[in-house]
Amino acid sequence: MIPYGRQNISVDDVEAVNAVLKSDFLTQGPQVPLFEKSICGVTSAKYAVAANSATSVLHLACLALDVGQGDCVWTSPITFVASANCALYCGASIDFVDVNRLTGNMCPKALERKLKQAQADNCLPKVIIPVHMAGHSCDMKAIGQLAKTYGVKVIEDASHGIGGSHLGTSIGACQYSDITVFSFHPVKIITTAEGGVATTNNASLAKSMAQLRSHGITKEPEVMLRPDEGDWYYEQHTLGFNYRMTELQAALGNSQIKRLDSFIARRNTIVARYLDAFDAFEALRLKSVTPLKESHSAYHLMIILLPDELDRKAIFDAMRAAGIWVHVHYIPVHLQPYYLKLGFAEQDFPEAEYFYRHCLTLPLYPDLTEEELCFIIETLRGLIG
Ligand SMILES: *Cc1c(COP(=O)(O)O)cnc(C)c1O
Repeated sequence: MIPYGRQNISVDDVEAVNAVLKSDFLTQGPQVPLFEKSICGVTSAKYAVAANSATSVLHLACLALDVGQGDCVWTSPITFVASANCALYCGASIDFVDVNRLTGNMCPKALERKLKQAQADNCLPKVIIPVHMAGHSCDMKAIGQLAKTYGVKVIEDASHGIGGSHLGTSIGACQYSDITVFSFHPVKIITTAEGGVATTNNASLAKSMAQLRSHGITKEPEVMLRPDEGDWYYEQHTLGFNYRMTELQAALGNSQIKRLDSFIARRNTIVARYLDAFDAFEALRLKSVTPLKESHSAYHLMIILLPDELDRKAIFDAMRAAGIWVHVHYIPVHLQPYYLKLGFAEQDFPEAEYFYRHCLTLPLYPDLTEEELCFIIETLRGLIG
């Protein structure tokens, strides 16, 4: 079976995790701050806060931006459910902004229309969460300018995007956003098994997320509200969680991040092979989901859009029967039964639904071999050529 995505684990990765197992700290040691520093290095952000998943980080980011009851958060319908759930965790309501049907990324024009309407109705969102689908950057300049005009905060869900850039700026630099979130689940670009990191250039947001990640507790003498009673003393200032990343996870991340550039280079090489092959059998009339101009994508996913006349389900089933574990990213969040119960309906976001009905994710990961690649391309050609 050829999966759609898969981690790459080296001997060095195994040794890095083993070394931590034999060390004094399995959690709250030196590896997590080192990993955070490496993420700052990759993204050029000033601050990074690691947690046990991107889902937790999205929650922390919303809380740090003071999202709560009575607030509304907007995200993209073409995403994993976590991008929307984080708002609901905070007691806020959620709404969606439709995407560009050829990229699956939030459409700045749709966003502008919706913001204009919301301003007229006096119900502007507090935060918008664009998602860099497949690792391809959204048009952050346009989204960031709209957010500024309307006084809305921005969290970038860059779960797919570590190591990518747009217009010469790294994803995660937060040039047009308040916070960026990365995931290190095993199918993503680099992995910590489970894990996520937030980047920001705002010291108080970083501090707030770090405190909320560990029960809302602080040990910093200068912010204590009561007299320091001794070395054991700490204070809880807000209601936080235990969302900490372990030392094992961070050690794996520290080892993996050394190969980030080579992972992304290999992913881009494989994508180029796919695109060449599709050009060679243009009868396929496939469109592939590609990055904006002047982007370098981490290419988390290789997504193609099938033409109307082809039966996506039949092709999906046949590919799987051949042992090629193609996938579909994503079922639009507003069509999930839980969200339908909140009042969303079919045709609410037609471009997202178009994307969903036509998309197919082909295998893409650094260890995919030339032989497997040929097999995938030939199988697909046989099915739709
Ligand atoms: C994977 C993913 C998440 C959640 O990441 P976890 O680390 O598994 O919590 C959130 N958003 C998007 C777009 C994702 O792909």
